[in-house]
Amino acid sequence: MRIDIITCLPRLLDSPFSHSILQRAQEKGLVEVVVHDLRQWATNKQKQLDDYAYGGGAGMVMMIEPIDRCISQLKSERAYDEIIYMTPDGARLNQGMANQLSLKKNLIILCGHYKGVDERVREAFITREVSIGDYVLSGGELAAAVLSDAIIRLIPGVLSDETSALTDSFQDNLLAPPVYTRPAEYKGMKVPEVLLSGHQQKIEDWRAQKALERTQARRPDLLNE
Ligand code: SAM
Repeated sequence: MRIDIITCLPRLLDSPFSHSILQRAQEKGLVEVVVHDLRQWATNKQKQLDDYAYGGGAGMVMMIEPIDRCISQLKSERAYDEIIYMTPDGARLNQGMANQLSLKKNLIILCGHYKGVDERVREAFITREVSIGDYVLSGGELAAAVLSDAIIRLIPGVLSDETSALTDSFQDNLLAPPVYTRPAEYKGMKVPEVLLSGHQQKIEDWRAQKALERTQARRPDLLNE
């Protein structure tokens, strides 16, 4: 898979992709993440990317032309399955959407800033609009990193068996059960006996029961989906 992220603040994306699982996924050649500095496609000497909003009011708006030039260049190089715009009024990201996007080959993710992008960008180029939650960030970079992480860890081969995504919350309609590691007792707090029993069927039954109890207590809405 290849993910092209378009941003006016590329440095904000230096870190998320250069550590741990996301870094290893790239080293293994399972994903290529390419960050594009939108300023490269600015049309004037000042490298301007935003301008005042028509109709007045507070806040600048990202101009269509640099975005058009950048997206057109990328589209001339390969076919994209989706051109995604990160925006608080988009469809809320969930595990189902991450699963769906993890099957794609080439994605573009556009990060907004200021008041967002000129509406014509959304109408002309964007195939999917994604929000990471009901709150407003200053820019789309952290949201793009969240979306990319959720997608990349689902690509076959990225996670080892021990960290398999299949046993995580939301892969089915349940939250994940509690987990424990050594020591078996710490300051009087004990690991549930069944997990030390070595009886795999009993362990699986216990986990299924705990996942159900946790879901009923914290996210009963998931059980009705
Ligand atoms: N004026 C916009 C609104 O009220 O919907 C908010 C613009 S926000 C300050 C700047 C940029 O941050 C957005 O264009 C978007 O790319 C990104 N952003 C902010 N909150 C986000 C969220 N919850 N999910 C995804 N992207 C978000």
